[in-house]
Amino acid sequence: LTNFPYQRVLVLGLAKSGTAAANVLQRNGVSVIVNDLKATSDQPDVQSLVAKGVRVVLGEHPLELLNEVELVIKNPGIPYSNMMINHAQQTGLPVWTEIECLTYLIKNPIIAITGSNGKTTTTTLTYNMLKESGKSTKVAGNIGSAAIEVAEKMAEEDHLVLELSSFQLMGTELFKPKIAVLLNLFEAHLDYHGGFEGYQQAKAQIFRQLTSDDFLVYNADDKRVSKLVEQSPAQLIPFSVSTSMQEGAWVDETTVYFKNERIISRSDIRLVGDHNLENILASIAATKLLNASNEGIKEVLTTFQGVRHRLQYVTEKQGRLFYNDSKATNILASSKAITAFNQPVILIAGGLDRGNSFDELIPFLTNVKGLFLYGETASKLAEVGEKASVPVINTGDQLDQMIKQAYQFSDEGDVILLSPACASWDQFSTFEDRGDMFIDVVHKL
Ligand code: ADP
Repeated sequence: LTNFPYQRVLVLGLAKSGTAAANVLQRNGVSVIVNDLKATSDQPDVQSLVAKGVRVVLGEHPLELLNEVELVIKNPGIPYSNMMINHAQQTGLPVWTEIECLTYLIKNPIIAITGSNGKTTTTTLTYNMLKESGKSTKVAGNIGSAAIEVAEKMAEEDHLVLELSSFQLMGTELFKPKIAVLLNLFEAHLDYHGGFEGYQQAKAQIFRQLTSDDFLVYNADDKRVSKLVEQSPAQLIPFSVSTSMQEGAWVDETTVYFKNERIISRSDIRLVGDHNLENILASIAATKLLNASNEGIKEVLTTFQGVRHRLQYVTEKQGRLFYNDSKATNILASSKAITAFNQPVILIAGGLDRGNSFDELIPFLTNVKGLFLYGETASKLAEVGEKASVPVINTGDQLDQMIKQAYQFSDEGDVILLSPACASWDQFSTFEDRGDMFIDVVHKL
């Protein structure tokens, strides 16, 4: 840490980010108190902190702790309505997330990526493109390890690619990437941010500190994004899937370009879906600004099969292509997946019943040749299939049965897609478990 302005810090909330912050600050000679409501004293991370002499207060939020510190670093998940945070703000204490500490840790070029959707995919693409271009690169933030921990161990030549949520960004002031990427803005997390304006302002924190030497890559097709970035003095680098962009990344029917340069044929790209094309353009723009090589970029785009559980290509069997989109826990996400293919789609869907209607799926089912439905919502989804005149081939209790039957029903050239449009919790503990089961069953077919 260089010129870190505080000596005594309260870290609120352990988990990955809090534990990392406490460790790094303590190693750097800052006096740290940790406070967590739910953690217990027998947890290894707690025991390890205590062994290093960090004071750890568990099970309650004693307001007096605030009198002993000059700064609060909060876990991004903790809402600002939390009484400790509330009180800290009232008494004028700064409240950061661990991301702000990077300002005092590293001078390396940071590529920071945010947006309502597509963060993990774009971050992964960007990281891989830089690596394949021979650039020494680390990745952190909302993906993988905590940013502060990765930053602490960085070498001088490293680039850092960061996936940042609005929660993480809200606790920053001086944090300054070299390249900021703003993918899109949908209504999300409105309760946490107290409305759309608050959410948008948190996202804008990613470019607040940029100067005319820095770059802001943004989605020119998203009206709210285009309006928001007008405030920035940074060099604006647009990307668009609909219009040619001489200053940024764009596509025509056949080819992907950065400025006037051809980067890759669209038919050579492995990832499917229009939304992924946006993520691809964003990562091309960000990496070309750092002189990534076209070969490196191409290598990634011709091989990358998608982030696990997000419209992820699994395998081909007897001419059938299998895709795992277990992350799609709502209609919007599934509609994107279903419409990503030109081939006939056999859709496997279903899961937790939240009481919502699925009628909004109807317009997206035109390419679907058969439905296999399971879980709590099977019968509701079957009604939607009937309304859309899509054959409901089978409904049942178990996902694995539906996968096997979908395979039997399929023809060569079909896509067999798991995109449930529902949360997994009626039968699985996480969407990851559900996707893992799909992959496992598919490989054993
Ligand atoms: P995040 O990290 O922001 O949650 P992911 O890359 O994990 O985003 O993608 C999650 C889901 O969001 C995908 O399965 C897809 O349904 C949707 N998605 C991804 N990229 C975009 C995009 N650029 N625009 C709209 N939706 C997207």
